[in-house]
Parts: sequence; structure tokens; C-alpha cells
Amino acid sequence: MLSKYDVTIGLEVHVELATKSKIFCGCSTAFGAKPNTHTCPVCIGMPGSLPVLNKKVLEYAMAVGLATNCDITRFSKFDRKNYFYPDNPQNYQISQLYMPICRNGFVEINTCAGNKKIGIHEIHMEEDAGKLIHDEITGNSYVDYNRSGVPLIEIVTEPDMSSEVEVVTFLEKLRLIIQYLEASDCKLNEGSMRVDVNLSVKKRGETELGTRTEMKNLNSFKAITRAIENEALRQIKLLEKGEKIQLETRRWDDVKGESYSMRSKEDARDYRYFPEPDIMPIVISNEWINDIKYKQPELRDEKMQRYIREYSIPKYDADIITSIKHMTVIFEKAVELGGNPKKVSNYLMGETMRLLKERNMEAEDISFSPVNLVKLIKLVDEGVINGTTAKEVFEKIFNEDIEPIEYVEKNNLKMQSDESWLQTVIEQVIAANNQSVCDYKNGKERALGFLIGQIMKETKGKANPAVVKKLLLENL
Ligand code: ADP
Ligand code: MG
Ligand code: ZN
Repeated sequence: MLSKYDVTIGLEVHVELATKSKIFCGCSTAFGAKPNTHTCPVCIGMPGSLPVLNKKVLEYAMAVGLATNCDITRFSKFDRKNYFYPDNPQNYQISQLYMPICRNGFVEINTCAGNKKIGIHEIHMEEDAGKLIHDEITGNSYVDYNRSGVPLIEIVTEPDMSSEVEVVTFLEKLRLIIQYLEASDCKLNEGSMRVDVNLSVKKRGETELGTRTEMKNLNSFKAITRAIENEALRQIKLLEKGEKIQLETRRWDDVKGESYSMRSKEDARDYRYFPEPDIMPIVISNEWINDIKYKQPELRDEKMQRYIREYSIPKYDADIITSIKHMTVIFEKAVELGGNPKKVSNYLMGETMRLLKERNMEAEDISFSPVNLVKLIKLVDEGVINGTTAKEVFEKIFNEDIEPIEYVEKNNLKMQSDESWLQTVIEQVIAANNQSVCDYKNGKERALGFLIGQIMKETKGKANPAVVKKLLLENL
């Protein structure tokens, strides 16, 4: 059934920009403040107040546009999107409909099916709305306008994707571009990146696209993947039954693993868009565009090439480290502090990745100081601690950012190379493991590893493995 149909997907991606102040006033964009403390007459929509465009918003939008191969519109404007809702104090949202700042771009993705260009239809700037909080117990609703006027860009793609794999690959690439530009942290779970998925299906080979639905409330790549699989199947089943797809907005419920209809096109609002009269048109010169291009930070591919060239780390390492912007910050800091690049890389690719996964954490939540990682590497290099202990100490650094030298002292973790002490332990272990000794003498190499393991265990992992091996062989 599935193979008879093609899936078509286009995305609308909202990204909260990392400016310190809001898009049309000087209020702070800081997250987590007391409700309605970051507000002023402009962002709570007082009559007579006048919006002034934050230049940084425009520059971020241009930077994202340039990095996604868009044309920058030399003369663009803002428009009013009118609707009444309590989170929207002006009763209109200032957005861009007719003349968005960027158009006609693309992002090239690479999947197992090869390279593919995903078209960017446009990128426009707009303001975020406030936040409604519904108290289920009292039945009261509250509104917090701290988010009102926080700058957003909306990136609208062409319907060029045909599977959940392509969608996630595209979003990961887009997110990395924006993070490298430092235009946003793009956290799906915190709403600084919000993705709406438009999806339709059609019989394979047909040229005209099917009727689409739009899905909202997708706050992880996993939810996006599940929602796409589920929606494609739902539409195919309807078509197979001879029914029609309704043009509608659906809300994905990730707990139930299904979507439900929010509103159909029949009750779609007419936004009565009209040009925003309070903001001057934006005129952009070639010099300005060149200046933004010139100031653009190093993007991923450049960084990867530089790591390979400057730090002589393998391409494999460079690829993993640069796949997370925050990792590159830690890596560069640690190397700057004198850490051996390959050793720093090993800790990041290995233990750090493992702990992130185990704890279900985002790389952005890493909070250890690179200086402590560098100190740890030095402790191993100087033979103060062995590899086993280093792993344990690293976990402490990862968890609590402890200072490793102090920690090793305090917990008595220094590597033990004292031969007479080790000799006693070895004799005990040999006496307690006659069978393994026997096995080893009969040619079972693995028994040696087992005995070394027992000795390490007896010494609480602190023994110098080289000395242990040497002494053990002598004893056998
Ligand atoms: P609207 O103006 O109603 O929001 P747009 O034409 O701007 O509609 O499209 C919105 C999004 O839907 C875009 O990302 C676009 O790629 C996608 N889209 C449009 N038509 C289809 C379709 N038939 N199937 C899947 N996605 C579509
Ligand atoms: Mg739309
Ligand atoms: Zn304000």
C-alpha cells in the first residue's frame, strides 16, 4: 500500500533570535523572568506607542539568508497580520507577507540516497506573542507578555522533502547553520526552534500534489519522525477508502502517538493583512550585505577543515566534534589551554558523548570547565593517575566540574607503582585463583587479563597497569 504513494513535505520553521532586546522595543528578551516584568508600552500594545526595528534582528535574518543561499530583498517592508487573541495585545502581529527579507535559497542535504537541494521559499521577520497560562484548578487564565515582541524569523521551505529522514537531516543542518551563526540556540524542547510540518500524499507518478495537512506541536526530532510516519499512513488509509483529505491544522500528541484536528480551512481566519504604517521600509545596500558576509563566523565545513589542518586530528574526530556547536567551543578552549588536541577529542567523542546519551542530555547542557579536562589529561600524561581512575575522575568533572588535582589528592587516587606493595597483592590474587593460573600456563592468554583485572580490583583501580603486568609475569 505504502509503495503506491509518494509523500511530499514542506516545513515552516520559527526560530527565536538571540538578541538581547526585543524586535521593536528595548525590553529584555531574557528567559525566565517574573511575568510581565520585561514589558513596555510598545510590547504590550499601548495605543500611540511606536515600534522601532532592532537592527540586530535584521542582521541575523540577513546572515541566515546568506548562509542558506537566499537572495536578500533590497527593499522590504513589514505588514500587519490582524487577529484578536489575548496573548496578542495589539490585536495584530507585525510580520512580513508581501516583501520578506530573504527569498529563493536552498540548503543541500546528504542522505544515503545522495545529495539533494531543499529549496527555501522565503525567510521573514516577525514578533512573537505573549504566553497564556491556564490554571486548570481555578479555571483562570493568565497572560505573560515577557515573550511578546521577542524576535522571530520564519523559514518557509519548498515542498521538496519526501521522508522523515530528509526532514530531520534538513533540520539538523539548518539548526547547525543558525547555531554556528550564533543567531539562536535552536532548542526544540524550549521552543526557540518550532517546526510545523506540511504533508501530503499522492499516487506515485502523479504530477499534481495532494491536499496537505499542517502539523503543530512537534518539540523533538523524535516527535517529528513519528508524526510524519503516522500522518502519511493516516492520509494513505483515507485515500484507499476513497475518502478525501481535509485541508486542516492538526496537533500532534506525542504521548498518545497520534494527531487530532485543531481547525479546518473553513474556519481559517482572514488576517486582513495590510502594510505596517509605523515602520519605514528597509533599504539594504550592497556594502551592508558584503559587510555581513565578511563578518560571518566560521561555519561547520570550514571549521572541520581547519581542525584537520591545524590540530592534525582525524577527519572522523573533526566530523563528530563539529556536529555540535557547543562541543567546538569546549574543544577550542581546551586546546587553547594547552590540551593535546587528539586527547581532548578522545574525551569529547568518547566519554562525553556516552554520558550525554546515558543522561539524555543536550550538548548545550554541558557545564564542565575545559580547564579541568586539560588538568585531567595532564595527570594521566604525568603518570599521576592511570586510565581507569581517569575515567572515574572525568565522570566527576562532567557531573560536578570538580578540580581533578584536588580530587585525586583528597580521595587518594594516585597510581600505585610501589613494587613491594603490589607484590603482596599479586601473591594474594595468585593464591586465590589457582584455576586461572593453571589456564594461563596451558596457553589461555585470556586468563592473564582476568588476573590483571583481579589485581586492579584489589588495588581499587589505582595500580600502575604496566608494573602489574611486569610483576605478574615474573610471578607466573
Ligand atoms: P499557506 O500560505 O497556506 O501557509 P504556503 O503555500 O505558504 O501555504 O505553504 C506553506 C508550507 O506548506 C510550505 O512549507 C510549503 O512547502 C508547504 N506545502 C505547500 N503545498 C504542499 C503540499 N501539497 N504538500 C506538502 N507541503 C506543501
Ligand atoms: Mg503558512
Ligand atoms: Zn517592550
